[in-house]
Formats: sequence, structure tokens, C-alpha cells
Amino acid sequence: MGKVFDVQAARNDFPALTQRDAKGQPIVYLDNAATTQKPQKVLDALMDFYTRYNANVHRGYYEWGQRATEAYENTRKRLANLIGAADPQEIIFTRGATEACNALAEIIGQRYFQPDDEIILSELEHHANQIPWQMQQTKRGVRVKGWHVKEDGELDLSQLDSLLTAKTKLLTVTHVSNVIGTVPPLREIIRRAHANGTLVVIDAAQALAHLPINVQTLDCDFLVGSGHKMYGPMGSGFFYGKRALLETLPPYHGGGTMMETVTIDSFTPAAIPARFEAGTPPVADIIGLGAAIDYLQQFSWKSLMAHEDQVIAYAEKTLSQFPRVHVVGHPPQRTAVLSFVIDGIHPHDVASLVSDHHIALRAGYHCCQPLMHRLQYPGGVVRASFGLYNTCEEVDRLAQALEKVFTVFPL
Ligand code: PLP
Repeated sequence: MGKVFDVQAARNDFPALTQRDAKGQPIVYLDNAATTQKPQKVLDALMDFYTRYNANVHRGYYEWGQRATEAYENTRKRLANLIGAADPQEIIFTRGATEACNALAEIIGQRYFQPDDEIILSELEHHANQIPWQMQQTKRGVRVKGWHVKEDGELDLSQLDSLLTAKTKLLTVTHVSNVIGTVPPLREIIRRAHANGTLVVIDAAQALAHLPINVQTLDCDFLVGSGHKMYGPMGSGFFYGKRALLETLPPYHGGGTMMETVTIDSFTPAAIPARFEAGTPPVADIIGLGAAIDYLQQFSWKSLMAHEDQVIAYAEKTLSQFPRVHVVGHPPQRTAVLSFVIDGIHPHDVASLVSDHHIALRAGYHCCQPLMHRLQYPGGVVRASFGLYNTCEEVDRLAQALEKVFTVFPL
């Protein structure tokens, strides 16, 4: 921690960003909410594992097996440190945030849900944090209740107390919206949920690369994360759970590692975290995630956030200067994501035309159909999402490309 953030130096850490188009210009990558680019350190960690000590974890007594296990377990410690968990054993590795949400829905559901119980889902949620809970409706007879978003992209806090009832077993909410960039007031939400005896799951997939998180200060019960959205490899993710809660939960996948003893017709589950990590995990990707955390932690959050806030504020101001462009939502705190629509041009056309200028944007529903319906964007929206390596000059290139798009689709 402590190194001052230097965006140009950071860009050099990412080999993919050194590529140039035919005119010698760098690619403008603004699809970081979908996945971030990977720094050389992460690529080196993957290569190092596969070329020097590729072995399975927790079972090999030979040197490579021990090194692999040590490196894999080191990521657990680094993650615990990154999110302020009291104990590394509270971190369970998965292959991504989607798998983490599915795992949590299943294990919490098995242990805690009874027919007619209620689950509160915010309308900001990504499908990955909606559908697994919805699936619990058919499996366990629980009822999902939606928590509305206001026009500015904020959750309506005044609704919360009436949504929480004696039947509300769980509330789940995102840390950063992947469409609007909204950061809900989590501490207050968690406080109110806990006062009602309701468990809280936080989806931090879009937050971990952009702001500091401390699960103990937040006091959330569970939190999920995605490695590939925080400069780590695809195929890496995790969930955190308070130890006392995790210890009450049953396994959801059966196989090697997750058991203590097995007879021909029964098994006893292993202690946490092994209980939830059946079979061969994505070892290289988890080790690569450790390298990504090291990479992130060399910067101070203060300087990194100041840089990202400056770029996103500049993007909002620049795009708002075009009368045809309408930015989606105006939350009091916006992190890393800016979505917009343009009068007279379908979002897919916008993304496809700016791609001719080597600018990577995303268009569509962004796995948030309920939010799109609530905010009345039936054709979806265009999304620019930022990482630590993006610059105001790249925003200018986006603006220039949009000016050309306007000439193709005059009003
Ligand atoms: N949650 C949010 C808020 C997301 O934006 C995404 C992916 O875009 C996910 C969950 C799913 O993450 P993963 O790709 O790791 O499964």
C-alpha cells in the first residue's frame, strides 16, 4: 500500500493494452464490468504454475504438490486480508461470482429456508444474484420480493422497513450496480436487516477492483466476488461467510476434499472451507487471483479511487454535453460504470459503430432485465465501464467516435 497511482505506468503493466490499431492508436477498452484485462504479474503467475509446479492441491506430498497447495492457500490469506475477514477459512473459492451466488442460495436455502419465507432482492441485481434465489422458490416454497429502484438509480430506502417482515429470512443487494454504478448505503441496509433477524448477502463482483471493503465493518453475513473482474484470471471467484454461519451450512457439491469420512452409504462433511470445495479447484486461476490482489494492493485506495472518480466524472460531463445522449441514473455515488442511451440509435448499433473506432463498449440488458424494465429501457442501454488503466484521453476518443456515429444516424 502507499504507492502513488500513475496511470501511464499502470497501463504498461497490461500487455493487452500495448496493442495498436492500424493507425497506431491503442485500443480503448471500456468493458471492464464484463471482465478486466490482466497485468503481466497475473500472466506470469499462471505461466509459472503450469511450467514449474503444476500439481493438484491438498493431496500431493511431493514438492510440486506442496508448492501448489501453499500458493493456493496464500490466495485465501490475501483475499481475507483484502476484504478484512477475521479468518482465511471464511473464504470459499469458486469459479466465479455466479457459482458463488448459486452455492450460497443452495446451502443457505437447505439450512434456513422454509415454505412461505421471504427473500428480498434489489432491482439492481445482476441475473447471477437473482435467478439462484428465484430457483429457491420452486425448490423450497420461499417467496422473492423485489426492492424497487428509483429513477436516479438509487434503491428506495423508505421501502425497506415495510419490505422486511417476520418472514424475511434473507436480503441480497449489490455493492456496485453493473449498469448504473450505484453504491447502495450498505451499512444502513445491513443494520436494518439484522435488526429484523434477516441474513444479508452482498454481491461485490463489481466493487472489489474499485473500492476498499471490510466485511467486519460492514457486518455482512456473506459476500461474493469475481476474480476476473479484479484483474485476475477467468475461472476464479469466491464467497465469504461468517465462520459461525458457514459452520452451520451443509455442502452443496459432493466429491473429493469436501468429506471427512465416507462409507458405502454415507459420508461426514469436512470442516470449512474444504466442505464447500469439492473436487479439483481452478488451482492456477486461484493462484493468479492472488497475484491480482498483490497487484491491486500495491496502490493506495485513495489514489486509485481519485483517479477512477476523475475519469468517470469526466466521462459523465463529456457525454452529457451531447443533447442526444442520456446518461442512465444519477446516483449520489457512482463507481466505475456509466450507461447511456442515444436518441434515435439502438444501443447495439452504438456499440457496433464505435467498435469500428477500436473502442470496446457493451450494449444490451447487462443481465439486469428487471432493472431495464423498471427504468423503461426496453432496448437496453450502452455501457462504458472503467478500470484503473482508463484515462480522460480515452473518454475523448469515445466522444469523437460518437460524433461520427451521429452523422451515420442523423436525427
Ligand atoms: N454480479 C455482478 C454484479 C456482475 O456484474 C456479474 C458479472 O457481470 C456477476 C455477478 C457474475 O460474475 P461472474 O462472471 O464472475 O460469474
